[in-house]
Amino acid sequence: MDDVERAVETVLDAVDVAYVVDLAQRLVQTPSVFRPGDPAGTESAAAAVCAAELRALGLEVRVEDAAPGRPNVIADWAGAAPGPLLILEGHTDVVTEGDAALWSVPPFGGLIRDGRLYGRGAADMKGGLAAAIAAVRAIRDAGVRLPGRLRLAIVSDEEGMMLGIKTFVRNGWAQGAVGAIICEPEDNCPCLVQKGALRALARFSGRMAHGAMPKSGVNPIPAAAAFVGRAAALEAAYAARHGQHPLLGAPSVTPTVCQAGDLAQLNVMHAEALVALDVRTIPGQEHGAIRLDLERAAAAAAEEVPGCRGALEVIEDRPWTDTPGDAAVVRAVEQACRRVQGRAPVRRGVPGSTDGTFLRAWAGVPIVTIGPGDVTIPHQVDEFVRLDDVVDACRIFAAAACYCLAGRP
Ligand SMILES: [Zn+2]
Repeated sequence: MDDVERAVETVLDAVDVAYVVDLAQRLVQTPSVFRPGDPAGTESAAAAVCAAELRALGLEVRVEDAAPGRPNVIADWAGAAPGPLLILEGHTDVVTEGDAALWSVPPFGGLIRDGRLYGRGAADMKGGLAAAIAAVRAIRDAGVRLPGRLRLAIVSDEEGMMLGIKTFVRNGWAQGAVGAIICEPEDNCPCLVQKGALRALARFSGRMAHGAMPKSGVNPIPAAAAFVGRAAALEAAYAARHGQHPLLGAPSVTPTVCQAGDLAQLNVMHAEALVALDVRTIPGQEHGAIRLDLERAAAAAAEEVPGCRGALEVIEDRPWTDTPGDAAVVRAVEQACRRVQGRAPVRRGVPGSTDGTFLRAWAGVPIVTIGPGDVTIPHQVDEFVRLDDVVDACRIFAAAACYCLAGRP
């Protein structure tokens, strides 16, 4: 056994199962749904729990607001000598619990039953966050001499506009990182690819009129309908051109919002109509070309209705990512999977975008997404994570960090 394997063994022995379970439970019990207009409805309490843990470990901790009351927590463990910087990334915000009456457990109770931790965020992604913090704790407690630096990026607003990770990148924290592990629920399988996303609003403007005299105005609704049809045609064209990605499936162009008129007054033809599109892309697609396609589709749809104007606005652009299989962080994570899980890792793809999108796209950092929890369970009622999976994730993160900082395998 060589030095690195010995270090990994010491670190794995130092993983404190009771600690990671307790921390995951406390994080679930700390609500962090962003509720605009409610001063208590932010990530700040969950961020404070993380910051307190990290300070107690003696790490250098920085707290920076991505938006008022929506902090990022950044904490560094510094190795014994200069070396690579590896980021462990997670988000504190969780989606709404929805109607609590539909849950069979209290959404923020952190109930543990039959080896599962239940609650909003258990899988997405307080289990992963606890695993990442406990992994750094194990490395510290093991007292192993490793070069380099581990940086915990614990950010806000992943479920929204990803202001947390964008602020983290803008403030320079990703600079020089050799890789990042995104601790999202992926059944502890390494994901090297993830879909891209474009969110666009098509607005159609006509002229208001009485429903009895529609010709005296311009109705934007048929233009919006034509745009929906053109979106479907674009989806078919993209699928024909790019086919199925083996891990991500086909690209999609989905109308998610359609607004026009007012149910209170069915005899009024309103001047405005809006269609929102959620476009999901796979490696090989060009977002710039898609933007042009959407602009042309909006213009052509408006032209079908004389006097109607159409405009398209892209409100969010998240590129797809595809990390090379020989990146140091990939080799480190996959070696850690073999070591902890005792089998060859099975690569998967991330169907949505994550904070990793911006670490890759804006800062050029190679990313691997891996963490505890079923891929399908987030955002549902009775969300849970298996505690064995949380502990395994902690071991994978800890071992991967050792391999990565040591420059192996
Ligand atoms: Zn998540």
